[in-house]
Amino acid sequence: MGTDGGIDVDKVRADTPGCARVAHLNNAGAALPPAPVIEAVAEHFALEAEIGGYEAAEQGEDAVEHFYDAVAGLIGARADEIAYVENATRAWDMAFYAIPFAEGDRILTTTSEYSSNAIAYQQIAAAKGARVEVVPDDANGTLALDALEAELAKGGVRLVSLNHIPTYNGLVNPAAEVGRLCREHGVLFLLDACQSVGHLAVDVAEIGCDMLSATGRKYLRGPRGTGFLYVRREIVQALEPPFLDLTAAEWKAPDGYEIRGDARRFETWERYVAGQIGLGAAADYASALGMAAIEERVTGLAADLRRMLADRPGVTVLDRGERPSGIVTFTVDGHSAAEVKAAARERDVNVSVAQPRTHGYDPHGLDSAVRASVHYYNSDEDLDRLLAALP
Ligand SMILES: *Cc1c(COP(=O)(O)O)cnc(C)c1O
Repeated sequence: MGTDGGIDVDKVRADTPGCARVAHLNNAGAALPPAPVIEAVAEHFALEAEIGGYEAAEQGEDAVEHFYDAVAGLIGARADEIAYVENATRAWDMAFYAIPFAEGDRILTTTSEYSSNAIAYQQIAAAKGARVEVVPDDANGTLALDALEAELAKGGVRLVSLNHIPTYNGLVNPAAEVGRLCREHGVLFLLDACQSVGHLAVDVAEIGCDMLSATGRKYLRGPRGTGFLYVRREIVQALEPPFLDLTAAEWKAPDGYEIRGDARRFETWERYVAGQIGLGAAADYASALGMAAIEERVTGLAADLRRMLADRPGVTVLDRGERPSGIVTFTVDGHSAAEVKAAARERDVNVSVAQPRTHGYDPHGLDSAVRASVHYYNSDEDLDRLLAALP
């Protein structure tokens, strides 16, 4: 162990109580939080119990405000471009359903799109007459940029919307190249970065997305039930949130209202305050380690694991893309993914079952695959323990 790719592995493991219990390879599901996140959440909840929830929020106001700076700093945004939302799905929804779609508008997406997003496209297609079109993959199995460019050139595209890293495969979509094409054609770009924030170095200016959604509990190592939305300052006022409350807007009684001018128009008043403070602490923790070092460590460890799995007879690694992510997916001959997961769990090794077939645009969809998603705090021994646990 020791230092690897700029990450002090012994130190980050010592910061992570769960490392003493499990070989946690389910970071794409929910990562193990580090001590500063655990403490931030526990301390605020304890304060609520001690002095009252509203009183605790007043006392914790600086920590709540710090969340916006911490998340903005992590992704190269400005604090007024960040909204705190309870999960990535609702964050994405608040942006997507704010777009004023009209009859015939084209929505372009990718084969690996997340099923919740695909359902939302279908709903808007039925309600507004928008058209959903799936851009094909290139030879590496990621979104084909030449095909995207050709579709953009035809005109009528209202939105390009895709995932950066899908939930069930190690591929990484070329987000920055997509952003460049969208800017050239003056088309909105919504990026589902649920699996990439805290995993890869994500910079909204470099990517050129207009909107980005992410969750707290996955690679960011924050609490469950937290997430955020980024909306570029220049477009926020053109997006009317599908729901408004008394913090998102001000009631001009009796029959008017004025919506906030910043990204917090996508928030609601009531929230998991301890979670918001904890997610700010998680963003601080990632920034202190450095996202470039995290990306190098995570993708390096995943490459090691793919090599180990490929050497094992009967194992097929499924990840697509030229430079795959920290998510490793595979099958084991003669055993279902559920059996592999159960065998691993018996030895305190956590993996999950991915269901590519539920991602209905994917032409490669298998019924199920094992997903082992590594994080920078995983050790070589964690990988050995998974190999030893395979049936
Ligand atoms: C997990 C995931 C989501 C949903 O995130 P929640 O926080 O569960 O709402 C969306 N998109 C992708 C690609 C995901 O992996």
